[in-house]
Amino acid sequence: LITKQSQEELLKVFSDRKYTDSKGVVKDVSLIVISLSPQPILSLAARYKLPPEDATNKLAGYFKSLGADLVLDMTIAEDLSLLEAQQEFVQRYQDQQADPNGKYLPMLASSCPGWVCYAEKTHGNFILPYISTTKSPQQIMGSLVKQYLSRAKELTPGEVYHVTVMPCYDKKLEASREEFYNDLLSCHDVDCVITAIELEQMLDNSNMSLNDAESSSLDSPWGEGAPAAVRRHRGSGSGGGADHVFLYGAEQLFGETDAQLVYRNLRNPDFKEVTLERDGKEVLRFAIANGFRNIQNLVQKLKRGKSPYHYVEVMACPSGCLNGGAQVRAGGGQARAAGGEAGRELVLRLETLYSQLPLATPAENKFLRKLYTDWLDGKDSDKAKAVLHTTYRAVEKSDIALNIKW
Ligand code: SF4
Repeated sequence: LITKQSQEELLKVFSDRKYTDSKGVVKDVSLIVISLSPQPILSLAARYKLPPEDATNKLAGYFKSLGADLVLDMTIAEDLSLLEAQQEFVQRYQDQQADPNGKYLPMLASSCPGWVCYAEKTHGNFILPYISTTKSPQQIMGSLVKQYLSRAKELTPGEVYHVTVMPCYDKKLEASREEFYNDLLSCHDVDCVITAIELEQMLDNSNMSLNDAESSSLDSPWGEGAPAAVRRHRGSGSGGGADHVFLYGAEQLFGETDAQLVYRNLRNPDFKEVTLERDGKEVLRFAIANGFRNIQNLVQKLKRGKSPYHYVEVMACPSGCLNGGAQVRAGGGQARAAGGEAGRELVLRLETLYSQLPLATPAENKFLRKLYTDWLDGKDSDKAKAVLHTTYRAVEKSDIALNIKW
């Protein structure tokens, strides 16, 4: 028996060009698409001592040698997720002003499924209204591949097998959520998630190093103007979007085009905040809370009505996704305890690599504007809401196999 979303399943799909979907239906595969997120690329770059660009091209070549048809980077989906999240924040802020008793703020970021599963299971209906409805980059990439790309390739979404490369196992849980099964298209948006550490194992099992793989460039099937390279967004590579949302909120809500992002550490480096003042009054207060201890603290404050924040970037792993539970640890495959000396050193090294990637500026991307017009019937349309947003549910007794490694 092959476990869903395992290396074995992936290798079998490459060889058989067939897969069994989550409803048990066997489907023929016409197109295998791999989407790479930046954190596992950097993890493997550090592991194999390659510059990020070389690691990206080697990964593309490795997947092509296994039988992938397209290898893409996820910058487009990250851009869309940021644009939607910043818009959602401004709307929530205005709604809270209009209805001070409403539960619009703080907006709690939702791109970390470890945190979202914990919130649904442990704090249920109390916390759900605060969690951002904007889909994570992984799931937006899923919609782009299964809906937009499959149509461009004149394929049914079920004929496309979509694999994402991610920094943690929790992303497998996210991909398999009911919310991300599209009834109209009869398929999940992401069929298989493979992590950095699993990729290292796959290479080890073939007695090869990433250095041995042929290089290939990333594919860019989106059309003219679409970003092709792996790029970084503002922030530390944690996987969150607090910096973008803060700057956008400052500009849209207070006309502040030169807001400064100066974080103050609070209890520890994984809990920090940034504020914007106007006329001596604090008008925006954002926090980044990483790791279980800080998240618990935040939720307790919220429950006591003592949270001073308008937005909190919540990530389950200390230091965020660069330190994800399935990133390759220092010294190779032997995972050392995250947060230990080696873990911190590794995160610093990955942050340095992240800072060397070219900077993405989502709002200026012409291609994104085209996507909104051609695919989503415009910004703020019902279709954009249906495709780029999701819902959450309180879980009484977990019907999701939680895999939180805090
Ligand atoms: Fe996964 Fe950790 Fe990133 Fe959350 S913070 S998405 S658990 S790697």
